[in-house]
Amino acid sequence: MLEIINNSELSIVKNNIELPSDFNISFPRRNSRKVMVGNIAVGGNSPVSVQTMTKTKTADIDATVEQIKRCEEAGVDIVRVTVNNTPAAEAIKEIVAQVNIPIVADIHFNYTFALKSIENGVAKVRINPGNIGKVERVQKVLAAAKERGIPIRIGVNSGSLEKELLDKYGYPTAEALYESAMRHADIALANNFEDIIISVKSTSVPLMIEAYRLIAAKTDFPLHLGVTEAGTIRVGTIKSSVGIGTLLAEGIGDTIRVSLTDEPEREVEVGKEILRTLGYAQRNVEIISCPTCGRLDVDLFAITKEVEEKVKHIKKPVKVSILGCAVNGPGEAREADIGIAASKGQGLLFRKGEPVRYVKEEDIVSELVKEIEAFVPEN
Ligand code: SF4
Repeated sequence: MLEIINNSELSIVKNNIELPSDFNISFPRRNSRKVMVGNIAVGGNSPVSVQTMTKTKTADIDATVEQIKRCEEAGVDIVRVTVNNTPAAEAIKEIVAQVNIPIVADIHFNYTFALKSIENGVAKVRINPGNIGKVERVQKVLAAAKERGIPIRIGVNSGSLEKELLDKYGYPTAEALYESAMRHADIALANNFEDIIISVKSTSVPLMIEAYRLIAAKTDFPLHLGVTEAGTIRVGTIKSSVGIGTLLAEGIGDTIRVSLTDEPEREVEVGKEILRTLGYAQRNVEIISCPTCGRLDVDLFAITKEVEEKVKHIKKPVKVSILGCAVNGPGEAREADIGIAASKGQGLLFRKGEPVRYVKEEDIVSELVKEIEAFVPEN
């Protein structure tokens, strides 16, 4: 049934076809074991967490903390910092003290950096046991991690596969990535260490998808998803969305990191958007906006950008639709918590699908932001 609401300047077609209130499509999750990264649970049906990595010299405590706080503001769950020298390992203590989220030390080869980072309070260490060297060193790192109750992430990358695996498989294959990850995992397991998270990243999206599928089918380790060195924000966002998104839609993946040649908070924003797109997380304002067309009479590009910027800090699930005209406005607004259908010089504001009031074009942004801030989600 169609209901026409007439106004001298705006004519709205109100579409009464409604989705059921409990309409929701969710993806069955792979059964993985749960490990704790500080206060964030990873795996075991916990919410999929979003990670990033700082791009500062870790020894520069002020710059690193400032970057982590920006990521916190963007909604990150876990942040990794590189620990590639002694000053970096020593800086961890102060960094951990100044931030409110779990910090992960990223270490290649040097077991003393791992020991120092653990002593200084990291919540996880990314290190490959097979790269540490002598058995005693491996045991020392695993014992220290176990004593503190922190997990390790085994991070395998198609660009740094062991030579013998490259010789065996000819080039980086999903099987080679899987075998490499399991070599490291088996070393940890042989030392009674089970709090393991695994990643098998590649710059190739099809390859990382196949490698994660393989490890997901054969183990119950929680998986950290990522497309490595994905590129600039445009290409990197697409690659990560396809790679990470495909796997999440298959129920694979417990924590994600989007790698971009850009600021870390951009990585967090894209990661969160991937989760939200798949219905995995609703912790922020979701903006639905139309592409615009010849029916448009307001500057919707500017309005949408401004609203997006102004509600970035809001940490509650609110669905907002911003439409350029009345054709789809009411229908979309019905599925949103707050909506606006613009027309020449004004917009009709919706709340929970019901028209609330008209606002002048110049007030659309401020009125929308006011409504979003005041909106109380149902749960
Ligand atoms: S909502 Fe209106 S302005 Fe926007 S694309 Fe659709 S028809 Fe065009």
